[in-house]
Amino acid sequence: MSRKKIIAGNWKMNMTPSEAVELVNTLKPLVANDDVDVVFCVPAIDIIPAMEAAKGTNIHIGAENMYYEDKGAYTGEISPAMLKDAGVNYVVIGHSERREYFAETDETVNKKVLKAFEYGITPIVCCGESLTQREQGITLDWIRQQIKIAFLGIPAENAAKAVIAYEPIWAIGTGKVATTEQAQEVCSAIRSCILEIYDEATAEAIRIQYGGSVSAASAPELFAQPDIDGGLVGGASLKPEFGKIVNYNK
Ligand code: PGA
Repeated sequence: MSRKKIIAGNWKMNMTPSEAVELVNTLKPLVANDDVDVVFCVPAIDIIPAMEAAKGTNIHIGAENMYYEDKGAYTGEISPAMLKDAGVNYVVIGHSERREYFAETDETVNKKVLKAFEYGITPIVCCGESLTQREQGITLDWIRQQIKIAFLGIPAENAAKAVIAYEPIWAIGTGKVATTEQAQEVCSAIRSCILEIYDEATAEAIRIQYGGSVSAASAPELFAQPDIDGGLVGGASLKPEFGKIVNYNK
């Protein structure tokens, strides 16, 4: 299988611009690994200083969110053109925290995914079930619905370039990582869903991350699963531990 792993940090609402520069400087010698794509998704105000600090390294600076309109009267929002102009090539779309606290829905996620591709920015499309949904046994149906709506109107050649992050909500920031079997089961179901919507080549090409309390200890086994192509890492991406996660194969 020739998919390159992609390991992304999600800094969330942490790090002022000067702290961001410091963190990039601390992490840059630790995250060198040509076998994987390394992305730091940072708050909008940190993008430019982080990019400056990461110049000449293997680190890609990504965004945590963007709006789905090109420009105009949307006070407080960041447009895809702004991200593109700043040199951003990755954007997290539809994180469960955005869905929970900022009223994002499968429909707004779809609009953002469409817009990201219009600007040549790779979306990291998030999906995931709550603990109640897992206990009710509806995880796979729920995830399939999220994926189907997120990719409405996206042509196969773009879908093949997308990244999907499977993040069970109950595992985010809780220290309660999904078992390797649980993570692989859902990531495999996501790939089957992509196969159903598109074709074999697209399903084989698309990269699927696991996210939710990923640590240096859990990363090697998770990333060794056939359908897990890396991780979206919150808490541990703010620490030197992220270097160990990126170098999980060393
Ligand atoms: P966590 O966050 O690694 O701190 O659980 C993951 C995420 O929300 O992307």
